[in-house]
Amino acid sequence: MIPFLNLKEINQKYEQELKDACSRVINSGWYIMGEELLGFEKEFSTFCGTNHTIGVASGLDALSLVLRAWIELGKLKAGDEVIVQANTYIASILSITENNLIPVFVDPDPFSLNLDPHKLKAAITEKTKVILPVHLYGLLSPMSEIMAIAKDFNLLVLEDCAQAHGAKESGKLAGSWGDAAAFSFYPGKNLGALGDGGAIVTDNDELAHLLRALRNYGSHKKYEHSYLGVNSRLDEIQAAMLRVKLKYLSDETVSRRDVASRYLSGIVNTKIQLPQDPIPLSHVWHLFVVQTEYRTKLQEFLSSEGIQTQIHYPIPPNKQQAYKKWSNLSLPISEKLHQRVLSLPIAPNLENDEVEYIIKTVNQFS
Ligand SMILES: *Cc1c(COP(=O)(O)O)cnc(C)c1O
Repeated sequence: MIPFLNLKEINQKYEQELKDACSRVINSGWYIMGEELLGFEKEFSTFCGTNHTIGVASGLDALSLVLRAWIELGKLKAGDEVIVQANTYIASILSITENNLIPVFVDPDPFSLNLDPHKLKAAITEKTKVILPVHLYGLLSPMSEIMAIAKDFNLLVLEDCAQAHGAKESGKLAGSWGDAAAFSFYPGKNLGALGDGGAIVTDNDELAHLLRALRNYGSHKKYEHSYLGVNSRLDEIQAAMLRVKLKYLSDETVSRRDVASRYLSGIVNTKIQLPQDPIPLSHVWHLFVVQTEYRTKLQEFLSSEGIQTQIHYPIPPNKQQAYKKWSNLSLPISEKLHQRVLSLPIAPNLENDEVEYIIKTVNQFS
């Protein structure tokens, strides 16, 4: 069986370095908010080309804390609207509703599957305060257009980079376009910890300063609390793991791109629609998502031939039980996508013969 993602193998490659990093933390006697976090924050800022990184406990917290900080700074208030693409993972939406803000779902562009600038513009109202583009599956959103619209309408931009570490266009990386950006280091993400983790990146000094307090009980100074904060810190062990993994991220992205380009040229089955062939470097291929009206049959066929696939995502956020009140929205592109998408295995450790076998098998599907 070719597994959808073999995390054990991915991490075993760095086993000795990870163990050394782990020992370093154990022997430091300091486990929260120490040297490893400072080191990782500095290194990740360099990687993204931003002034600040604030490590937090998860990608969801990263998104949510930025919105909370903007509320604290008076830039947002309960009831304001946040425009987001409808076909995202539920975390993007939860960060909005957690802060008593209103998600305005827009149908994605049918080819990039990302935010469609025309629909985004049409969705702007007097209450719109934030645009939340999700660089879905690893493809950078059309950020030049989105930033131009944000400027025209005086809106804040929060990038959801949970799937797009290192994606870039014109040399500018995911996370460095908006006013702030949120990353996840969930183990299966392109930059994955060995547990939960997340980070916010921004160039804004005031926002960064506030976020450093909000993630730590609203405190800049021990036992003095200026804000109603939370406990959401990237611990020393995870920061140390991420410092190791970050060194290899660019190489791993090259490997992912290599697999993707072989899929794009090798898969020629007319029953299967391939993802858009993107502007070079704008995609980091967190997922390789094909579309087909025969999804169930294709998934069963691949499984019977020893290839594991997944669906990202079977149910759109607005059709989830938790969000019953939005179940009647009309989002035809998003709804169609959720019935058609299927993710093939893509990972830096896929072997050449595995890629060949997947291409051959997908082409045999009839
Ligand atoms: C994974 C993910 C998140 C949430 O990250 P966690 O670390 O799991 O909280 C948010 N948005 C998107 C698009 C994701 O894929």
